[in-house]
Order: sequence, then C-alpha cells, then structure tokens
Amino acid sequence: LDKSIKSFLFISKLVIFASVLLLVAFGYIYWYSDINIYNSILLIIIALTIIITVVFSAAIFALVYVYRKKYVSSALLLPVKIGQRVLMPFVIFVSGVFKGSKDVIRGFYIDINNILVKSLHRKYPPEQVLMLLPHCLQNSKCIYKVTNDINNCRRCGSCCIGEIAQMAEELKVDVIVVTGGTVARNIVNKNKPGIIFSVACERDLATGIADVTKIPVIGMVNERPNGPCYNTKINVADLRKELEEILEI
Ligand code: SF4
Repeated sequence: LDKSIKSFLFISKLVIFASVLLLVAFGYIYWYSDINIYNSILLIIIALTIIITVVFSAAIFALVYVYRKKYVSSALLLPVKIGQRVLMPFVIFVSGVFKGSKDVIRGFYIDINNILVKSLHRKYPPEQVLMLLPHCLQNSKCIYKVTNDINNCRRCGSCCIGEIAQMAEELKVDVIVVTGGTVARNIVNKNKPGIIFSVACERDLATGIADVTKIPVIGMVNERPNGPCYNTKINVADLRKELEEILEI
C-alpha cells in the first residue's frame, strides 16, 4: 500500500508542478506581452487544432474503411493505429461521460485489432499459440477445478470448456482458463507466446489488447445470456474457425 501511495503522491506532485509552471508562463505572457505575441499564440492554437482535426478525420476515415474491407493495407496502417491507440480510447471515455454503451465502442476496437492482426497474414505453429479463456465459461455447478489445468475437465458437455479442451488437444494448442486479468498477464509474461487468442467480455479484451502491445492478440467476445461473469458461452465452431485462420497446420 505504501508503494501505491508513494507513486500516487509522486505523480500528483508532478501534475501540480506542471500546473504551477503553466500558470507562471501564462502570467508572464499576460503581463509582458504585446498584441503580436497574443496573435502568434492564437495562430499556434489554430494550427494545432487544424492538425488534430485533420489527423483524427483521417483516422476515422481509415477505421471505417478498414472495418468495411476487413483488411489493412500498408498505406492505412499509420492512421488506423493512431485511430485505435489515441482516438478510440478517447471515444470510449467520452461515451462513458455521456452514459453511452462503452461496450459497443470496445467491440469496434476489438474488431479493428483483429483485422490488424489478420492483415499481417502470419501463421503460427501451435506451440506459439496461447489461448486464454475466462473462468465464467465454466458451468457454475461444476465441481472440477479447470483454472490453470483444463485437463481436470471431464468433458461432460454441460459447458463449452469440454469442447474447447477437445479442440485444443486436436490442434495441439495451449489453453488456460484464467480467473482474471492479472493472472492472464502473469501467464503471458511467463509463457511469452507468439500470439494470444483470448475469449473475454468487451471490457477485459479491450484492456488486455491495450496492455499487451508487443504480442499480437486475437479477441473473441463471449456471449452472456445469464448476465455478466456467470455461465457465459462461446460458439466453439466459430472459435475453431478463427484459430485455424492463424495456425500453421
Ligand atoms: S464440461 Fe468440464 S468444465 Fe464444463 S461442467 Fe463439464 S466437467 Fe465441468
């Protein structure tokens, strides 16, 4: 806890220091500047606004185009990445402020990420693929502990874990059922896979994709007919199709 308070205080002091510096700079400009300097500052602000508007407009156009074509050409790579990494987190934030559905935008973010990864047309040997599943896919009445070792599943058919275990065995892919984002991150750091294939809700997937920048991630959103985090589902045929697309078979 001490460490977290120290980090919090350190960042807070930096923010206060930057605010004071800004205040001093504005005060200096206010007292010692003439109309020419005011005009120059206004021109810089106008130029910056134009640049941001043009960059964001290009990013929006690129994101929509790529979403429709389901492919990212090398010419659109930069605007799409700017759109995904800068514009979309901002849109998700604004959507939250106005009480909109963040999950709809997060779903779009995940789709764009998947298109980016697939557009590389890279195939991976099974031993480089790590599949991460959320614990909530397991039937809540099941007594077997499948987290960390999916082989404890008896494949009784009461939930999709059994089918996924069977599929992973056939395709020789590592699959781990995780209890949360921190465990997933630790497993990724330890296993260092070539690609991650992750099933989760929109929020966990979007956070995971944003966190793991060095390893490509394909995300699939789970179905939640019983509400969040409880007896969720995934279409195993779709999962297999997605997996086979990136597998070197
Ligand atoms: S398929 Fe596996 S995890 Fe699901 S209920 Fe049956 S034994 Fe449990």
